[in-house]
Amino acid sequence: MKLSQFGQKLTSQSGIVSLMEDLGHALNVNPELLFLGGGNPARIPEFEAEVAKHLAGIIDKPDGINKLVGVYQSPKGSEVFIEALVSYIRKQLGWNISAANVATTNGSQSAFFILLNILAGRQEGDSVAKKIVFPMMPEYLGYSDQTSEHELFRSFLPHIEHIDATRFKYKVDFNALALNEQDAALCVSRPTNPTGNVLTNEELLRLSSIAKQQGVPFIIDCAYGDPFPGMVYNREHIHFDSDNLYVISCSKLGMPGVRAGIIIGPEQIIEKVVNVNTVMSLANGNLGPCLMTSLINNGDLVGLCQNTLQPFYRSRRDFAVSCVDKYFAGLPYLLHQPEGAFFLWLWFPKLSISSTELYERMKKKGVLIMDGSHFFFGIDEGWNHAQQCIRLTYCQSEQVIDEGIRLIAEELKNL
Ligand code: PLP
Repeated sequence: MKLSQFGQKLTSQSGIVSLMEDLGHALNVNPELLFLGGGNPARIPEFEAEVAKHLAGIIDKPDGINKLVGVYQSPKGSEVFIEALVSYIRKQLGWNISAANVATTNGSQSAFFILLNILAGRQEGDSVAKKIVFPMMPEYLGYSDQTSEHELFRSFLPHIEHIDATRFKYKVDFNALALNEQDAALCVSRPTNPTGNVLTNEELLRLSSIAKQQGVPFIIDCAYGDPFPGMVYNREHIHFDSDNLYVISCSKLGMPGVRAGIIIGPEQIIEKVVNVNTVMSLANGNLGPCLMTSLINNGDLVGLCQNTLQPFYRSRRDFAVSCVDKYFAGLPYLLHQPEGAFFLWLWFPKLSISSTELYERMKKKGVLIMDGSHFFFGIDEGWNHAQQCIRLTYCQSEQVIDEGIRLIAEELKNL
């Protein structure tokens, strides 16, 4: 069978496919692996109990089952969910938005598929394809294989700030960053997957103004940040600009299984997203919107984020950092400042093998880590740094985190 160019592009082996295969294997087939890879949120009993309570409430209503499984949503998504979401965001964050600024999708990964593909590529009359610009690598590998053609990304290397002997932080290199007429959009995740970096509002304002000058959208991936679950440990809320596109996910609250994503942005882009989503999916699933509407309208979402999820992840982060410092003492390692999301990003500047090989070796030892090299895309190959980093999740139990990090340190000492 011969595939189209689009078919070939999307079926070639991609980082996100092998990541999800590993994740599925570790979570469903071989649960004794020490799972420090993947982006699954943690299992938090208080959260599950809350979801169970809301599900029961939905089902108990006279037309509950019908609303959950018996109706297609409108193209834009559930009106009641969008209404609840808009008032939640206006109240919690003060964003001046209306329902016309919101579209919902089956997960934020699909939201990105739509956005990246309606923006990047050849426009009518163009001989050269327009590109999505990432102001700072490393970035979420899930974007890297989503476009219909190859080489539609243009990425910039970060400035590396050394904080002390074992800590560092990536910063946008504004001296290098410049857009041109070949660029279609600027895109960042905040907090950043994989590094746990949180771009400051000052940096976001500068990026917004660079995008405006070029007349292109600025897409901010808020999967781990505002408006929920708010895993930004200094609690600085994100700056809102009505020209920007904010992509939000319900997954990192603890519900990746409901596949619910949201895009907030200018009305004329939202309308286009809705059209594509309808062509692709006909309608969104009902479970996520029903649950979210119930969580918001009963006033439980704020408390869940602030009193359950955020303290949980903060404490796991502190624990994971203490394990790294304990077991890696004496080794040449640098930890990115863990400011948000639920990952630790480690750089081994003297690593004698590649991060890909380290990943393979750790897998044989029963520890699943994330090879950092997948998170560098849209740059010229040959930057050694891209083969010297790994990402660890701290969503597992303290026992798994401790043992996993101990085994990584053991392997590094052998090297
Ligand atoms: N954006 C980032 C930064 C992510 O880490 C993920 C998932 O890990 C997604 C988007 C996609 O999430 P979902 O499709 O579950 O909403």
